[in-house]
Amino acid sequence: MNNAAPKHLTIIGAGLAGALLATLLARRGWQVDVYEKRGDPRQQGYQGGRSINLALAERGRHALRLAGADDAVMAQAVMMRGRMVHFLDGRTDLQRYGRDDSEVIWSVHRGELNLILLQIAEDAGAQLHFHRGLHSVDFERRLAVFHDDRDGSSHEIVFDSLVGADGAGSALRGAMKQAADLGERTEFLGHSYKELEIPPAADGGFSIEPNALHIWPRGRYMCIALPNDERTFTVTLFLPNEGEPSFASVRSGADARALFERDFADALPLIPQLEEDFERNPTGLLATLYLDRWHLDDRAVLLGDAAHAMVPFHGQGMNCAFEDCVALAERLLADDDRARAFAEFQARRLPSARAIQAMALENYLEMRDRVDDDDYLLQRALERE
Ligand code: FAD
Repeated sequence: MNNAAPKHLTIIGAGLAGALLATLLARRGWQVDVYEKRGDPRQQGYQGGRSINLALAERGRHALRLAGADDAVMAQAVMMRGRMVHFLDGRTDLQRYGRDDSEVIWSVHRGELNLILLQIAEDAGAQLHFHRGLHSVDFERRLAVFHDDRDGSSHEIVFDSLVGADGAGSALRGAMKQAADLGERTEFLGHSYKELEIPPAADGGFSIEPNALHIWPRGRYMCIALPNDERTFTVTLFLPNEGEPSFASVRSGADARALFERDFADALPLIPQLEEDFERNPTGLLATLYLDRWHLDDRAVLLGDAAHAMVPFHGQGMNCAFEDCVALAERLLADDDRARAFAEFQARRLPSARAIQAMALENYLEMRDRVDDDDYLLQRALERE
């Protein structure tokens, strides 16, 4: 690529990372086309399949500030000062993340966040193309084929470079694998999750402390709950896939009620639709995706979950994806040699992503096993002195 080449980029996926990267580059005068397999959620409502809300940390907010999205996102965010641990006997303990409210994290609604990011991307000049699911790529001819799920029609485009922001099941990664060995491996955790909902209290307010990430640690398994600005909480039940209890043994709404009566008794009255939620909502798998290579010279690069999906226990997948966007935009703006920009992006971000993936796995043990451990609580209390 030389200096005279037009600064054009084709992004696959208008999720969290795709929309943010589009904004960062469009604001700097780049022509950006974003292809998204779903319809426009601003017209038909958000249809995301998983994790209704997300913990946003400072590293993610930094990226949102650079994109001019922080104010809009924070207007609907709920502050979480620390973990509220719910013990088996009904006692609770708030373990603060920092000394004061300058060290907190925020709960944001995935759908609302996506809508905000899409709007600022479009306002910045990015072209968003909905109902365009990447189907296949001819890297020799730099041709990408998209399918429209409404009528099955195919649409072909010519590209300079593709950015894969199309999530853990990335179709671009699938196409890149056919052209080069990416060193891909996926490690399944052996645990899955199910989302449930705590509605507002009778007076319309939150039914438990809103400014906390609630955890019910129970050894090999746990529940968490994050607040939403409409006064609800999204509860996530994490269970092993095998053993007792597990998603193999807790199969029906009645099984879930029995589990909650035994292990999450103080949460049970808060979830009036427990049986319905349990039977209606999908069971999500959890895995870590490792790649040794994120790019194909100057033709394609992966970021966010497409490059390094991780288990959600450190609450950093989106935050890490946002940091990727900032790092990639910086390299692209600084260097007209795209192959070098992609290689430097990978060199800078791959080790960080690996470290965060390891921390996310480690934090699962901590959240489910250790946050209610007496020695651990004593140590945390001393740290707070
Ligand atoms: P995605 O958000 O998955 O977006 C991918 C986009 O690409 C979607 O819009 C999709 O429709 C589109 N797409 C897919 N295939 C194609 C195709 N073939 N063609 C065109 N478009 C396509 N992270 C946090 O930071 N904090 C948390 O608290 C947190 N909690 C989580 C809880 C759970 C249960 C889970 C599963 C994840 C959690 N994460 C959290 C991780 C976070 O959800 C991801 O890291 C984040 O969504 C990654 O963003 P992304 O843009 O890379 O991918």
